Amino acid sequence: MTPGSSVHDSDYDRVAATPLTCLSGVGDKVAEKLAARGLLTLQDLWFHLPRQYEDRTELVPIRLLRPGLPSQVEGVVEAVERSYRGRPMLKVAIGDDSQATLVLRFFHFRGTQVAQFAVGTRIRAYGTPRAGQIGLEIVHPSYRVLGTGVEPGLSESLDPIYPAIDGVGPAVLRKLIGQALQRLPDGASMELLPADVFAGEPLCARLPSLREALMILHRPPQGSDVPALLAGTHPAQRRLAIEELLAHHLSLRRQRIAMQSHGAPQLRKARLLDALRERLPFALTGAQARVLAEIRDDLAKPVPMLRLVQGDVGSGKTVVAAMAALLAVEEGKQAALMAPTELLAEQHLANLRGWLEPLGVRVVWLAGKVTGKARDAVLADIAGGAAQVVVGTHALMQEGVVFRDLALAIVDEQHRFGVHQRLALRDKGSSGDSVPHQLVMTATPIPRTLAMAAYADLDVSAIDELPPGRTPVQTVVLSAERRPELIERIRAACREGRQAYWVCTLIDDSDEVVAQAAQTTFELLTQQMPELRIALVHGRLKAAEKQKTMAAFKAGEVQLLVATTVIEVGVDVPNASLMIIENAERLGLAQLHQLRGRVGRGSAASSCVLLYQSPLSRMARQRLETMRETNDGFVIAEKDLALRGPGELLGTRQTGLAAFRIADLGRDAALLPTVQRIGEALLRASPDLAERLTLRWIGGAVRYASA
Ligand code: ADP
Ligand code: MG
Repeated sequence: MTPGSSVHDSDYDRVAATPLTCLSGVGDKVAEKLAARGLLTLQDLWFHLPRQYEDRTELVPIRLLRPGLPSQVEGVVEAVERSYRGRPMLKVAIGDDSQATLVLRFFHFRGTQVAQFAVGTRIRAYGTPRAGQIGLEIVHPSYRVLGTGVEPGLSESLDPIYPAIDGVGPAVLRKLIGQALQRLPDGASMELLPADVFAGEPLCARLPSLREALMILHRPPQGSDVPALLAGTHPAQRRLAIEELLAHHLSLRRQRIAMQSHGAPQLRKARLLDALRERLPFALTGAQARVLAEIRDDLAKPVPMLRLVQGDVGSGKTVVAAMAALLAVEEGKQAALMAPTELLAEQHLANLRGWLEPLGVRVVWLAGKVTGKARDAVLADIAGGAAQVVVGTHALMQEGVVFRDLALAIVDEQHRFGVHQRLALRDKGSSGDSVPHQLVMTATPIPRTLAMAAYADLDVSAIDELPPGRTPVQTVVLSAERRPELIERIRAACREGRQAYWVCTLIDDSDEVVAQAAQTTFELLTQQMPELRIALVHGRLKAAEKQKTMAAFKAGEVQLLVATTVIEVGVDVPNASLMIIENAERLGLAQLHQLRGRVGRGSAASSCVLLYQSPLSRMARQRLETMRETNDGFVIAEKDLALRGPGELLGTRQTGLAAFRIADLGRDAALLPTVQRIGEALLRASPDLAERLTLRWIGGAVRYASA
């Protein structure tokens, strides 16, 4: 592709960056209000798009009005009725040449307003008609009284309704955007994407240019496809969404390229790894072996690995991570494993100690609770290198933690962390031009399309096979009224020597309230089943106490564990075969799947009971049905995406994905493969364009520490 001459033209950039104070009507005060919404430059206003449209390009005869279809009408006041029964109400009947009457109904009004509606006055009104007591009515229309003077003309384009801005009224905002649009540079200097990048892409056929797209969206011409505009699927919107997705994609790719310009230690000796493999009581699954091979391949290279391992709960990610850690240890270097909760980190610690210490590897523990002399000692071990593998929580990233030679940073359940945190751990190991390898593990599978957008800077591996001998968990969905039946179920499981979880959730997420509810449930269950050994864990307990209870549960001393969602990730007690989740309708699919993953880890047939409060919303019913139908985390992730959208799935802290201006990953997921192809072609042919495009959409502010 040959970039046109305009590509290096800074004219566009100069105009685009003009501060909004250049517009008439924008003084310091208004500028401040706009800035509070991130609107600083002309370009920001160009991309501040309407969220709605109103069609005032024509007058609809009253007789032709249709309920639910927003329309503009004009008529003469025929009657006015004001009543005070119950609450004040004003009804104004207007009629037009179509010999039909429409009622304008107001619940809030002032005396001056009433005076406007003298019989015989001509009114122009806009709103959504609905069926009233007699004929159609519009509640609280926007309207204007027409005088005897010159009639106001009709709009020439659909009226854009912009997202509201505090302190700047809609009419003012519209005028400002109108002014900004008058300064839109010509199409050629705006266009960063040469037409040939779209060639051969079916989804890009017949798309408007960037300039046309912006004009269409701000001032949709009469006859525009309004339903498409409202749904966000209009070609003009698609044009912008593609460009925005492309900019994000390119930004991630660029970071990856920058990252790979660094060096990393080559980790190739596998004597320890083989020793561990020999000693394990099980053989790796095919999927584990494949992913381990991918990791070993990466680690053998002198460039930093950045690999995400997705694997359903129970797929055995930890042992793969342990083996990777051994590769670092054997080269005389260190590995760190960071988990988002103490409970999970402790579990990793126990596993890693069990596997690595017999091989003579020193594994140390660092969490927030490690303080004083103990902390000093651990820090000294980490700095001196005596600590070969370090397991812990966020505490690993704190100041004062200095590694002698960190070669591999492993982050578990990355969705619980921000990207910054992952990078903070990595930075602990940077020395000179060398950075540690990074391994990220998650049990929250991300749909493929989304992974492409969210993780364009990562390589992705999937452990898509469970260890043999697991029987899939049977899931039942029950109304909370049937709670008494569960007592018998729990007794039965415990009689067979099995264990059970009872998970308490509440809509109120405050630790305290949930802990209280768990406490109450615990007391109730203890009363109902005095013969069982029941224990309680929640987030408000001291770490040592939690640990003790978990250990007792793991050892089988506790039969029924009443818990909050603190047990969501990582807890591994294969003998537990029954889980009851209260208020399951309030949890997202990913979370339910995580919780359910605590059972079905042994060979016994396991079950999960999802209790819900009636009545169930349709959406909630669908979610619970999905849980009943499948145990496959990837299927569940796809459903979750469809039901809830990507924002919730990834969490807002993730990669800034929630910060899209136009694109919507749920709606636009189908565009992603196209975006990826265009992106690769653009990076090859015109890296300078890629750079400018990223700047336009994402700005100079690189979203995470320069890779
Ligand atoms: P997750 O992927 O959810 O983190 P874990 O690493 O906790 O899963 O593994 C779950 C359980 O399966 C652990 O008890 C682990 O020791 C065991 N496990 C891992 N790999 C295998 C395997 N190949 N065969 C049998 N059991 C395995
Ligand atoms: Mg795990």
